[in-house]
Amino acid sequence: MLQFKKVAYYTLGCKLNFSETSTIARGLTEAGYARVKFEDSPDVFIINTCSVTDNADKKCRAVVRKALRVNPEAVIIVIGCYAQLKPAEIADIPGVNLVLGAEEKFNVAEYLEKETVFEKSRTAVREIKYAKQFVPGFSRGDRTRTFLKVQDGCNYFCAFCTIPLARGRSRSADVAATVAKAREAAEAGAVEIVLTGVNIGDFGHGTDENFFDLIRALDEVEGVERYRISSIEPNLLSDEIIAFCANSRKFVPHFHIPLQSGSDTILSAMRRRYRTDLYRSRVERIKALMPDACIGVDVITGFPGESDALFAETQQFLTDLPVSYLHVFTYSERPNTTAIRLGDTVPQEVRKDRTKLLRLLSHRKLKAFYAEQTGKAHEVLFEAEEDGGMMYGFTRNYVRVKLPYDAELVNKTTEVYLSEADRDFVCKARREIHAVPTI
Ligand code: SF4
Repeated sequence: MLQFKKVAYYTLGCKLNFSETSTIARGLTEAGYARVKFEDSPDVFIINTCSVTDNADKKCRAVVRKALRVNPEAVIIVIGCYAQLKPAEIADIPGVNLVLGAEEKFNVAEYLEKETVFEKSRTAVREIKYAKQFVPGFSRGDRTRTFLKVQDGCNYFCAFCTIPLARGRSRSADVAATVAKAREAAEAGAVEIVLTGVNIGDFGHGTDENFFDLIRALDEVEGVERYRISSIEPNLLSDEIIAFCANSRKFVPHFHIPLQSGSDTILSAMRRRYRTDLYRSRVERIKALMPDACIGVDVITGFPGESDALFAETQQFLTDLPVSYLHVFTYSERPNTTAIRLGDTVPQEVRKDRTKLLRLLSHRKLKAFYAEQTGKAHEVLFEAEEDGGMMYGFTRNYVRVKLPYDAELVNKTTEVYLSEADRDFVCKARREIHAVPTI
């Protein structure tokens, strides 16, 4: 007999967290716990946290307070990267009952069965070096796109990053097991699968399989119409992967490639494993084979030692590069990283100004990319939600599209013509409808 019946989940952070929340939720549902909405007076709240943002702490506290307002008697369990990094800090938040680390979070059912652990706040977080297990999974029912976790952890230790400390060493399942998960997702209705992980290009690390083997095998899975590679390090995005995507009907022409800086001096200080020449050649190769490809870029402003001249190098590099949008992050000091010891810090105001400049550049890039796509036919996967009589979806190359709501089109790929984008970067679509045949 279960002592708790209803569980609600709250996820902060990245796609990987969403996928892991779904895996944990499915496990608990199979164990007999009902999954309910946050407002439906759950007995247990599971909060999956992120450590990347500056205010992880504030966000976590806010969600705990919100949960306690819904049910002051509820058990509150905090998991995720922030939980692994700062367990004691989280255990001190009033109302938190249990903090679980990177490995322990997958055993939450066992903790829920041991009644006594909830008498007071406690932590069950082992040192991250012990996190060796890979727990695969995918999200289902949370969003139209399904996020398939193919890899976890990272061995790179870039100077600014705490992710290896929160998630441990690079690990994955083998190709066969990962393909089996994709099949399971397809059988559950997944039309588009987003491959997620911490450093997914490092799939198969330490084995004789690699990411290229994985995508070739996934391409054969029946029922999945689209795969999106969420983000891949430029040094691992080989020419053969690019060529394969260009020839595949399923792998879409959308790439997200972290750059972090357009200055080789800063890339070296960041301990990144490539320089700008390699990055440029990857982008050019993609555009040569897939001229309409959408390319997103992560970039950090204000890393220690980033002088005005070095920032200008980044600005120029990005201005010249045929990329579609930037995700700009302002550098912030993180405990236990090597960057924190570098000195030569950039004043906060300067960091913020640089972020603003790059965001303006991103806006111009995105506008130009959308303008290139209008007037063309695109295949769009429409989502279930209705908003003001409209439905929304994405093209293969990640253009956001809207159309008057039609229930017939939900979760199907449909060919439309794009007209101009509005101020929020959503293109109106005109239907010259022919449903695109399933591959
Ligand atoms: S590759 Fe990505 S996850 Fe790994 S250390 Fe560098 S920034 Fe962090």
